[in-house]
Amino acid sequence: MNFLKHAFSFIEKIAILHKVISITLKSSTNLRNIVLIPALVLVILCTSFKPTGIKVYKIDKIVIDAGHGGKDPGTQGGFSREKDVSLKIAHELGRIIKENYKDIKVIYTRDTDKFVELENRANIANKNDADLFISIHCNAVPKNKENIFGTETYVMSAHASEGNFEVAKRENSVILLEDNYKERYEGFDPNSPESLILFSLYQNAYIENSLKLATKIENQFVKRVGRNSHGVKQAGFWVLWRTAMPSVLIEVGFLSNPKEERYLNDDLGQVYLSSGIFRAFKEYKSDLESDQ
Ligand SMILES: [Zn+2]
Repeated sequence: MNFLKHAFSFIEKIAILHKVISITLKSSTNLRNIVLIPALVLVILCTSFKPTGIKVYKIDKIVIDAGHGGKDPGTQGGFSREKDVSLKIAHELGRIIKENYKDIKVIYTRDTDKFVELENRANIANKNDADLFISIHCNAVPKNKENIFGTETYVMSAHASEGNFEVAKRENSVILLEDNYKERYEGFDPNSPESLILFSLYQNAYIENSLKLATKIENQFVKRVGRNSHGVKQAGFWVLWRTAMPSVLIEVGFLSNPKEERYLNDDLGQVYLSSGIFRAFKEYKSDLESDQ
């Protein structure tokens, strides 16, 4: 396939060059040939030795974002806080990736219990030109629904159902804790669905790959980790909006469910969840890198 792509790209270059020179030098056939022939020879020489214009796609930088932190505890379970659970799973995921891929750079938006603005989380990923952004969170529902448990993985979208909007609203509301959030987010109101409509446009270019990864993550959670999956969903998450790369937000389980809270705080539970995310990442990486 690569050979064909090179050949097409080469033919395209010649055709474009020929056209440009022909138009420019329409009036003189001799002059046209004098310029055209050496130019074509030059293109042939260049493209024979170096496959220009084709970048081999490789996933070698990943940003892992542990949700919340510092003054923002996230959701609270019976005995644990979301910010601590998300950090432990983020660390474990990073550790497994580094152990298996020595050449992959793992970047954390935070690796301690500190507060990081949502906008900065996306900035860290963009500045590092990351290939993937994975945000890790824990879910919660009101007390009368505490039997609900399981995982769900989100990609950015404004076209969300009412239920998804509630999750996004909770995760977005952290910006109210940030200084100058009104200026920083230019009038963004986390309680308004209208605010989200424009926001999804930024992630549109990456939606296909985000969905691919999200689907693999939920599949792994069900097949290999034995979790109850609520599937892949779409909602307007502020932290995903600004990232310029495929991005997913994983709700690894419900801290509002006492049994699941124990699992999420268990060392082995954290290893299982991280391994599930890792296997999905591995599949995604190998699919994308071979599909060129
Ligand atoms: Zn969260």
